[in-house]
Amino acid sequence: MGIDLHAHTSASDGTLTPAELLHDAALAGLTAVAITDHDTTEGWAEAERACRPGLAVVRGVELSCRSGDVSLHLLGYLFDPSYRPLVAAMERLRESRVGRARRMVAGLVAAGLPVTWEQVQRIAGGVVGRPHIAQALVGAGLVGSIEEAFGPEWIGTRGRYWVDREELEVLEALRLVREAGGVSVFAHPGAAARGRIVGDEVIAQLAAAGLDGIEVEHPDHLPQMRAHLTRLAGELGLVTTGSSDFHGSNKAVRLGQERTAPEALERLVARASGVPVLQG
Ligand code: AMP
Ligand code: ZN
Ligand code: FE
Ligand code: FE
Repeated sequence: MGIDLHAHTSASDGTLTPAELLHDAALAGLTAVAITDHDTTEGWAEAERACRPGLAVVRGVELSCRSGDVSLHLLGYLFDPSYRPLVAAMERLRESRVGRARRMVAGLVAAGLPVTWEQVQRIAGGVVGRPHIAQALVGAGLVGSIEEAFGPEWIGTRGRYWVDREELEVLEALRLVREAGGVSVFAHPGAAARGRIVGDEVIAQLAAAGLDGIEVEHPDHLPQMRAHLTRLAGELGLVTTGSSDFHGSNKAVRLGQERTAPEALERLVARASGVPVLQG
């Protein structure tokens, strides 16, 4: 069994189309894959058409959230994509992404650097994110890699050309996903290298507010963190998942690199009532 519950496509900042993602998931021997683009369900329709025998598809989203002044990501799965309050919240998040990306590019342009908003828009196609600006920086020869573009001299968090953006209060996001019949999993809660993380007391608070699971196996989690989160999930009665957070060539991880146990997916599916898992 191979289950990977966190992957991005060209609907946000992944480089494969949804159909290509499913093709590669089958090639990698996966039995289930989730499509979880940033703040959009735009990729679902193509994934539905590209569904193939032997590969279950879990439709989801990765919502940009905030708890106090810490940014965090909430994975929502199997919710009704037409639930108006959630649709409206995602629209606001995407609008904020565009304004913020334009401001980051304006900062680069003001510094005399050879990138343009038109170029970033061409690269993005779907929901814009920093990896698209990073690609433009690589294309202009200003940095050697996407990873380098995420450094403090460029567009890394609180870096020279970084601009903040609007995020959804996480308790609000939890409520919206639940009201839409979905389930929620806290994405990479221990990814300390990527920015500030919340303490265990916040995870406990989210669990009390209806959080269903936490991502334990994730490429950005060190072994100690995985052990800690496994213990915490046991104490709080949370489902534990494992996922690659695949972004195609925008990130150095393989699809299926981290995996979820079948029982964990079963527990999540049993609690969801928005849309079913697609069976090809
Ligand atoms: P944004 O959502 O526009 O703020 O951009 C954040 C996205 O960039 C996330 O999806 C991350 O996966 C990706 N990202 C963050 N740090 C890095 C990094 N060091 N290298 C490559 N991708 C990154
Ligand atoms: Zn991303
Ligand atoms: Fe994330
Ligand atoms: Fe992600």
